Amino acid sequence: MPESHYFAEPVETLERGDLDALVDDRVRTTVQYAVAHSPFYRHWFLENRIDPSEIRVHEDLLTLPVISGKTIREHQPPLTPDFQFLSAGWGDVFTIQETSGTSGTPKSFFLTWGDWKRYAEKYARSFVSQGFSNKDRVVVCASYGMNVGANTMTLAAHRLGMAIIPFGRCDFPPRVIASYRPTAIVGSVFKLLRLGRRIAAEGTRLQDTSVERLVVGGESFADDSRAYLAEQWGCPVYNTYGSTEGTMCGECTELAGLHVPEDLVHLDVYDPRLKAFVPDGECGRAVLTTLLQEGSACGTLLINYDTEDTTVVLSRERCACGRTHMRIINPQREAETFWVFGNSANRVDVEAGVFQHDNMQYLTGEYEAFLYDGTSPGDVVMRVSVECNDPDRIDRHLIEDRFTERFIRYKPGLAQHAEDRTFSIVFRYKKPGGLELQKLPGRPKRLVDRRSA
Ligand SMILES: [Zn+2]
Repeated sequence: MPESHYFAEPVETLERGDLDALVDDRVRTTVQYAVAHSPFYRHWFLENRIDPSEIRVHEDLLTLPVISGKTIREHQPPLTPDFQFLSAGWGDVFTIQETSGTSGTPKSFFLTWGDWKRYAEKYARSFVSQGFSNKDRVVVCASYGMNVGANTMTLAAHRLGMAIIPFGRCDFPPRVIASYRPTAIVGSVFKLLRLGRRIAAEGTRLQDTSVERLVVGGESFADDSRAYLAEQWGCPVYNTYGSTEGTMCGECTELAGLHVPEDLVHLDVYDPRLKAFVPDGECGRAVLTTLLQEGSACGTLLINYDTEDTTVVLSRERCACGRTHMRIINPQREAETFWVFGNSANRVDVEAGVFQHDNMQYLTGEYEAFLYDGTSPGDVVMRVSVECNDPDRIDRHLIEDRFTERFIRYKPGLAQHAEDRTFSIVFRYKKPGGLELQKLPGRPKRLVDRRSA
């Protein structure tokens, strides 16, 4: 067991029964707050003929409808005259955030200072569980601004007495590493891989830098790409999962799943039809509910909010780190899941194939994949383009075998289709900078379904 330290030991180590009782108590407080302050939920209880006083324990949330980002967009300007989800007076609103929605109007989120403090508490716990203390100096590469992640981590650092170097992006000059000797960097897997290549190109061995750990988040990734990143930098890589809606979960040093701060946010995992909870250990949709303490103000209260991410509850037992809060697998974007002959696969499965250890002697890790219709009706072709350090000096057979073996291993239903060529994987090898996504502005889309139906 690692040296025992916690940010909020009494609550982080609560016995399961006591933790569940605390959650139930906060579910009741939250529902009361919704009735008193949220125009949307007041209406919603009436419309769905729900007596809010009957919502006593967290299992009762199952009797309530599930809402989504679409629901929020439909209850804010320009579709409604005011913000139906706004659940605090303007005097209590500290910031207004927008989520960069992929479709239409961005969702608006109102945060009170109390919300910011609750969000920061979640990251503070997560940082401490990853071994951070007031001795650390952390470069934050996540962007400040409308995303809450970077600001929340900065507030969390204040609680811990850590120093933050708020670059907000990963293209800072390598002298930053030499001058400030940061002990950690927060960024996405790909940004940190690119940063590493830049530093190495200037003649510094990554293992010789002051960096002791990396914290990644912002998008899901394959364990294989994390392993490669850890190998490149010669230090552990910890995962965090956060969103404007208030989920902030983090891995501890045990790397045994992400701890959900259960007293601050409630997470249920639903079946795909959003009608029932799935048992622990099974994959489903992550649905969250804000949890409030008596007397706190919340800017955008959410009950049964579908994050459109999928996850699995790994355990509700005490972790080897001593924390009792449940652990989940790294959530994946439902929007990045595709179906081929009744088998689901995610962008992360493609990424895992790319990052096979032997492949990485030739590849940079940058990739993109496209699904096309095959030449015969019903056939499916997946085209995977990978960036190579030097496309003329690679072992194509090795790359293709390793990729295909990894991809099919977890998709046994596709094996027969791969055999009879109704599903085929073709590869393209690109020079540095030669991928389509590298020519497009904005967030890279690594998996694009270009099939006709
Ligand atoms: Zn743990």
